[in-house]
Amino acid sequence: MTTLIRIALQKSGRLSEDSYQLFKECGIRFDYGTGKLKSVSSNFPAEFLFLRDDDIPGYVEDGVADLGIVGENVAVESARNVQTVHRLGFSKCRLSIAIPRSESWNSIADLNGKNIATSYPRLLGNYLSEQGVTATIHEISGSVEIAPSIGLAEAVCDIVSSGSTLLSNGLKEVETIFRSEAILIAGSRLNKEHQIILEKLLFRIKAVQAAKNNKYILLNAPNDAIPNIIRLIPGMKSPTVVPLAMSGWSSVHSVINENDFWENIEAIRAAGAQGILVIPIEKMIN
Ligand code: ATP
Ligand code: ZN
Repeated sequence: MTTLIRIALQKSGRLSEDSYQLFKECGIRFDYGTGKLKSVSSNFPAEFLFLRDDDIPGYVEDGVADLGIVGENVAVESARNVQTVHRLGFSKCRLSIAIPRSESWNSIADLNGKNIATSYPRLLGNYLSEQGVTATIHEISGSVEIAPSIGLAEAVCDIVSSGSTLLSNGLKEVETIFRSEAILIAGSRLNKEHQIILEKLLFRIKAVQAAKNNKYILLNAPNDAIPNIIRLIPGMKSPTVVPLAMSGWSSVHSVINENDFWENIEAIRAAGAQGILVIPIEKMIN
């Protein structure tokens, strides 16, 4: 029997769609969303387990799953013995302290002697002790943002992405204590076969991520402008330069980082480029 690597994913929630999408882009097929607890891929040696995100670090530590995708906030808060294998760049959010909008705020020291409600007692506790603040932490599992209005706490520490939940509960964000994104975690007991499968998976994930961050760029330019343009878009090895039917002109094909594109577009045009096309890349392998 061939070895399967077991990968724990959030069944349904803010990590799920992007996790499923990532495997799809890696060409790894499996059924999900059918209410099943697990599913074996039809074309990759992996079995997927669908769980609540909070349970994933524990299952990975215990070896029930070999790998898992969770928010870094959950992985760190769990204090389980798991390692971050790769950062995935989605489900970005921050863990922040918020207080009622009507209250003034000078510094984190304002929290001395206060009550703070949170689902992240460990992350908050560590932060407060680093900052030399002594406060009482009230651990609650959901709807943290209502704690001040019901008199449970003077402040909260909760996940924020846009801030709209805070706003609608009359709170303002005053201090960010942790920035999170989805991460791929592994236990400490991967055997040789699992490690080989993990390497294959990481190879695919990196190709998908590189493609997302880069664009294929084509442009036309007079031949005497080509050296300057090549300096601006050096590409993976070196750009392709092909002559146009019109003499004295060439087409340059290269790969450019999305951010570099926006930073360099003026210089590329000033160097004489015309007819610039920027095209998404599906997979990119260096
Ligand atoms: P479960 O039912 O699996 O326990 P949950 O309600 O605890 O789910 P979600 O709200 O789905 O968890 O959030 C999962 C993770 O997504 C969080 O731990 C965090 O890392 C990230 N996250 C939370 N809120 C947001 C947000 N608004 N935008 C982006 N990512 C978020
Ligand atoms: Zn959860």
